[in-house]
Amino acid sequence: MTALKTAIVGAIDRLGDDLEKLSRQIHDNPELCYEEVKAAAWLTDFLAGQGFKVERALAGIETAFRATIETGEGPTVAILCEYDALPAIGHACGHNAIATAGAGAGAGLAAVRDKLPKGRIHVIGTPAEEGGGGKVKLIQAGVFTDVDAAMMVHGFDQWVGHMDLLGIVRVGFEFTGKAAHASADPWEGVNALDGAVQTYNNVSMLRQQVRPDARIHGIITHGGAAPNIIPEFAAAIFYVRSLNLDYMWELQKRVIACAEGAAKATGCTLKVIAHNDTVYEPMKRNETLLGAFRANLTALGITEAPPLVDRLGSSDVGNVSQVIPTIQPLMKIAPDNTPIHSRAFEAAAVSPLARAGTLAAAKAMAMTTLDLLAEPALVKRAHDEFKGAK
Ligand SMILES: [Zn+2]
Ligand SMILES: [Zn+2]
Repeated sequence: MTALKTAIVGAIDRLGDDLEKLSRQIHDNPELCYEEVKAAAWLTDFLAGQGFKVERALAGIETAFRATIETGEGPTVAILCEYDALPAIGHACGHNAIATAGAGAGAGLAAVRDKLPKGRIHVIGTPAEEGGGGKVKLIQAGVFTDVDAAMMVHGFDQWVGHMDLLGIVRVGFEFTGKAAHASADPWEGVNALDGAVQTYNNVSMLRQQVRPDARIHGIITHGGAAPNIIPEFAAAIFYVRSLNLDYMWELQKRVIACAEGAAKATGCTLKVIAHNDTVYEPMKRNETLLGAFRANLTALGITEAPPLVDRLGSSDVGNVSQVIPTIQPLMKIAPDNTPIHSRAFEAAAVSPLARAGTLAAAKAMAMTTLDLLAEPALVKRAHDEFKGAK
C-alpha cells in the first residue's frame, strides 16, 4: 500500500468512534423518503467539519446535498450516500451504514487533501432510494453531468463486488364500487375490495408464467371501512421488476390487464395510477472501476464471497450507472444469511460487524477515489468500457 493510502486508512481509523456515532444517530432516528432532514443535517455538519464545501438542498431537494473538495483541474469522482429508512421497520436496509461509509471515505480523503492529486471529490447525498427516486431527480437536474465516475456501497451479509439490479416500475390501482349494508342489502352493493383481491389473485397466477429474472409483488393498501359495509373503495400497489426494461414494460401491461379483468368481473370502476416517472433502471456493470475497488479490498485483507446467483434488488443507482461509470459493491455488515429488509438486518446495521464493514468500505472507496485522481488513464478506461457496454 502506498504511503498516501496508509495515511487515508489511518485517518478513517482515527475517526472510527465519530463515524460509528453518526451511523447510530441516523439508525436510531429513521426518516422516510424525502423526509431525511436530521440525517442530511448530521452528514453535512460532519463533512463541513472535515473541510468540505457543503451545498445543502441540492437541486431544490431539501434533503439532498453535495460536499466538495477541489485540488485543481483533474477527474471528478462522486461518492454517493443514501440515508432514508423503510416504513415500519426502520433502517432494515442499512442506509445509515451507506451514509457513514460515504462520509467516512470523504473524511479520509479530506485528511490528506494537501497531498491529493489534482481533481474534484464530491460526496453526494441522495435521498429517497426506497421508492422516491432521489437519484433520478438529481440526474435530471444535471448533478452528474460533470462527474467522471461514481461509487457507493450497500450493506449486505457478504462482501460482493457486483449485484445485478432489476429495472422497476410501480403501478397502483383504485377500485370504486358502491356501498351497501353487508347484511341487510348486500345485493345493492358493488364490492371494491373484491376487485383488489381478484387483482392480487390474478397477479399471483401470472407470476408462474413470467421469466425467472422477473419479480412482481404487491399489497392491498385500502380494503374498506367496516365489515358491515360493502367496501365502496379499495386500492392496491404493485412493483414490477425485470433485468430487461422492455420485458418490464410488457409485464406492467399484463399486471394492468389483471386489474382490468378484476374490475370487469366485479363491476367496479378502475383507476390505474402508473408511476412511470420514477422508473429504476438496471445496473450497468463497469469492470474497470470494479477491478480498482477489488484491488483495494484485497489490500485491506478482505476476501469476496462467490458471485451472487439469484439475489436481486433494484435501486436508483442503476439510473446513475446508465449515465456515467458507476459501481455499488456490497459490504458485509450483517451475519451470513441475514436478508435485507428484515428486522434482523435492522439490528445488525448498528452491530460491531457493521462498524467494521462500514469503516473497511469507507477505506476502499477513498483508496479507489485516490486511484482515479492519480491515474486519469484509469478514468479513460472506465469511460471506454462504459461507451462499449450495453
Ligand atoms: Zn432497501
Ligand atoms: Zn437499500
